[in-house]
Amino acid sequence: MKVLKSINSIRSFIQKEKLKSRKIGFVPTMGALHDGHLSLVKKSIKENQICIVSIFVNQAQFNKIEDFTNYPQTISEDQKKLETIGCDVLFLPSHDEIYPNNDSLKFNFGFLETIMEGQYRPGHFSGVGLIVSKLLNLVQPNVAYFGEKDLQQLAVIKKLTKDLNFNVEIIGVPTVRESSGLAMSSRNLRLSNKEKEISANIYKGLKLGEECLRSTMKPLEAKEKSVAFFDKINGLNLEYLEIVESNSLLPIKVIKPNQSISICVAAILGNVRLIDNISFTLN
Ligand code: AMP
Repeated sequence: MKVLKSINSIRSFIQKEKLKSRKIGFVPTMGALHDGHLSLVKKSIKENQICIVSIFVNQAQFNKIEDFTNYPQTISEDQKKLETIGCDVLFLPSHDEIYPNNDSLKFNFGFLETIMEGQYRPGHFSGVGLIVSKLLNLVQPNVAYFGEKDLQQLAVIKKLTKDLNFNVEIIGVPTVRESSGLAMSSRNLRLSNKEKEISANIYKGLKLGEECLRSTMKPLEAKEKSVAFFDKINGLNLEYLEIVESNSLLPIKVIKPNQSISICVAAILGNVRLIDNISFTLN
């Protein structure tokens, strides 16, 4: 696996691969890689001729400085994991090269900024828009892979690439979970075993919401039931729980046949903030 650290080196690599008409798959990450990340990488390896993974902890998308400074970094383990599964290139750009001028460019994703993550993490999606634009511009992939675990981020990136005519296909990849149901996340490294046990209730609360909807309960009532479940879990503070249409992320008041439904939550445990969601259709 090649490890490329500068903008010049990734540009010249891409240029050569484009001349050979190689299909390039790209997986942007912030590192501390787990099996969730690796499922994206494996899919990219399978579906493309070249797989590029980037690791860059993007300060611009953190709205709390302590979340940025506490973000886990495990570069040498990450490198080994990527090598083992057959990734072609690890792109490790430096902060100074990515943000030489303390960029002030801002994105506004409209409605998507006003709900859920947008509402609770002001400026977060602008920072995501900036780094994803820069990385797509540098790597010029045919296909880029993003996790459905960050469903709202996936919606933001689809809007970004469509509105700015990026020549890339965006593919969403299902969430990988621990056997307890806890969605894998780099932030789980900051949880104690006890906290991990408590966090497994996030998935239970989501599945309870789904069961309620399957039993023909109205969305508002299903939401109240799930929120009541979360409220009973000691140590877990629910930030939001929303029942939304999976693509538009518009809140669902009345369920329509074959509508794709997502239940999304954010919850805080100690000083770790976790997000998760499940998606399904009712027949
Ligand atoms: P991050 O390093 O957290 O920015 O994540 C990099 C990519 O991996 C994003 O597209 C995430 O949505 C995706 N990802 C993170 N956790 C998971 C998971 N448990 N399952 C699938 N994809 C994930």
